[in-house]
Amino acid sequence: MISSVLEFLNSALGLLFPEFCAGCGEKGRTFCDTCKTKIDFVDPNYSCPLCGRFLGHGVVCGECIESKRNYSNGFFIYYYTEPLRNAIHEFKFEKRKKVGRMMVRMAEKRISELRGRFDYLLPVPITEKRLKERGFNQAYILAMEISRITKIPVLPNVLIKIRDTKDQYTLDKDERKRNIKGAFAIKGKNSLVKKRTLIVDDLFTTGYTLMEAARVVANQKPESVSVFALARAL
Ligand SMILES: [Zn+2]
Ligand SMILES: [Zn+2]
Repeated sequence: MISSVLEFLNSALGLLFPEFCAGCGEKGRTFCDTCKTKIDFVDPNYSCPLCGRFLGHGVVCGECIESKRNYSNGFFIYYYTEPLRNAIHEFKFEKRKKVGRMMVRMAEKRISELRGRFDYLLPVPITEKRLKERGFNQAYILAMEISRITKIPVLPNVLIKIRDTKDQYTLDKDERKRNIKGAFAIKGKNSLVKKRTLIVDDLFTTGYTLMEAARVVANQKPESVSVFALARAL
């Protein structure tokens, strides 16, 4: 009885709020079967353990050695190619939170491997002003969904953003570094001491944002600092 009521409600809602594929726009589901098969997963056996770059083997790449990554591990789920690129756009700019949650859930098996390895998830923050404009922090939505799978708690208001920055993707490499420098701070005292922390963001391009966040977190004397990005730009 209950299930038939739910089924009815679900189909009625589907008529009222039809769902479109976040990859190609086809009417039906959040991700259609065709798009699902096209998604590029990062395989840790064939990518750099610090930046997710595809290598054909799983050792640290030359660029990571050169740029002196300041965190112990990187976790990357997808490459930033179509249809995922479009889906991330739908999530962030069309404000489809469900798309963000689905992108985490589609990698549930891989993400569940994080269970027990960290004490806290720290979403890369946005400023209060930006939060009001957008209505949500995309990294927070992702962290909450990762937490649902792994049971690692999210610490939402410890790593904070203290000034607005330009969107990194609008800038070149040197500008990105300057843009993000000094943008983060830690609120409160001692909550990260001796903790294994995982900083969560949606997209990894040069890695400057996550490295700047890692620098600020590392000052708190945690046991370890690692980073997570849902997608890794090619
Ligand atoms: Zn599709
Ligand atoms: Zn690398």
